[in-house]
Amino acid sequence: MNLKQLVTQIKSGETSSENLVQTSLDTIKKTENLNAYLSVNDEIALEKARAIDKRRSEGEELGTLAGIPLAVKDNIVSREGKTTCASRMLENFNSIYNATVVEKLNGADAVVVGKTNLDEFAMGSSTEFSAFGTTLNPLDNSVIPGGSSGGSAVAVATGSVPIALGSDTGGSIRQPAACCGVVGMKPTYGRVSRYGLVAFASSLDQIGPFARTVEDAAYLLNVVSGEDAHDQTSAPQPVPDFTASISKGVQGMTFGVPKECFGEGLAPCMKASIDKMITKLEKEGAVIKEVSMPHVDYGVSAYYIIATAEASSNLSRYDGVRYTIRPESVTDITSLYFKTRAEGFGKEVKRRIMLGTYVLSAGFYDAYYMQAQKVRRKITEDYNTAFKGCDIVLTPTMPELPEKLGEFENDPLKAYLGDIYTVGVNLAGLPGISVPLEQIGSLYTSLQLIGPAFSEETLFQAAAAVEQLSGITHT
Ligand code: GLN
Repeated sequence: MNLKQLVTQIKSGETSSENLVQTSLDTIKKTENLNAYLSVNDEIALEKARAIDKRRSEGEELGTLAGIPLAVKDNIVSREGKTTCASRMLENFNSIYNATVVEKLNGADAVVVGKTNLDEFAMGSSTEFSAFGTTLNPLDNSVIPGGSSGGSAVAVATGSVPIALGSDTGGSIRQPAACCGVVGMKPTYGRVSRYGLVAFASSLDQIGPFARTVEDAAYLLNVVSGEDAHDQTSAPQPVPDFTASISKGVQGMTFGVPKECFGEGLAPCMKASIDKMITKLEKEGAVIKEVSMPHVDYGVSAYYIIATAEASSNLSRYDGVRYTIRPESVTDITSLYFKTRAEGFGKEVKRRIMLGTYVLSAGFYDAYYMQAQKVRRKITEDYNTAFKGCDIVLTPTMPELPEKLGEFENDPLKAYLGDIYTVGVNLAGLPGISVPLEQIGSLYTSLQLIGPAFSEETLFQAAAAVEQLSGITHT
């Protein structure tokens, strides 16, 4: 059943929230070996579900997520349970407040059943950099589930929850969605409040939905979107119903296909699947046009300078004084800083902090950080130019099917290069969605659709058409 049907069933009393939450908890237990969850709120979730069922039975109108179980990435703070960011640094951290998205979920009567695994502080593309163990891909245990929101993608792929939230700084929702054969969407920068999302790179971070279907993703985005007084970068744009145009099809819609995204480095199976889909879209009355994104090749370099620069600043707060673990045998304030950071951060996070500190340091700032900001502007201009001639830009999400586990361990550059198709969307602040295309063995190929800022409604419309044409339905 899709989300709307589940909600209707709960509202009509045909099924109960308790029943759904219990099923969710059972599935989590059964799939424990995948390590998708860092914490599970069994008791609290069941209590909440019962309270929701009781309110319904007393005639109260329930919220739009009427008792639906869902999972939240563990870098989004919640008062219930811990928020660890999959880091030793925060292994005992309990937030004293809820992220705005969590408040909104509670307000819509959703039930958060657990917090999901990620690469430490969302830095990575495989969930292998979690301090609490790798998450396994349920489609094939020998390949990565993608990252950094691997836990949320797996939670949805196993059916333990119908929807989940992740965060996307350079591809961390779209990539794991692609790796696990589900839908993942990064909204326009500012669409969703970042209040309570533990900051990685503040000018790029955005919270977004995972779901089994495009419509379910749109439904969840409806709930969490909107301006927020706690986040000054959240946008005052009105929030339309993102599901409103979902079945309108692609007749007359123009898709721009950047030639630079289909050259060297793209696996033949990805290209073949996308080509097939393009032909199908054309048959449905869409217009396909070649566009040019001349700066695609510089995206990864610019991203890894800007993201690490911002990370080095954002992560300076973890100094042992607040939030974090407190190492033993500390003699003075300096050793407190050193020991906390040496013991608390994993190697990928340290690598990023060093890189970020370097590119911001006097003497290198102009050569790296400033230059990267110029490239960022160029990439944004590429998109602006493309959108003058098309409604949607269509690219791969990932260059290849998911890598074998362990491939990135000693080759960070390889992992970074895999971000080539996703980072530009964050640099330009645009909405992007990944949709599975075709099953190859147990895995899926996928594509990414990108729209102009605040065009989510059209983006979901196009994505739903792709989904229908691909014939992949998990519900
Ligand atoms: N793979 C990218 C990185 O490691 C993106 C991560 C993300 O979007 N959080 O930085």
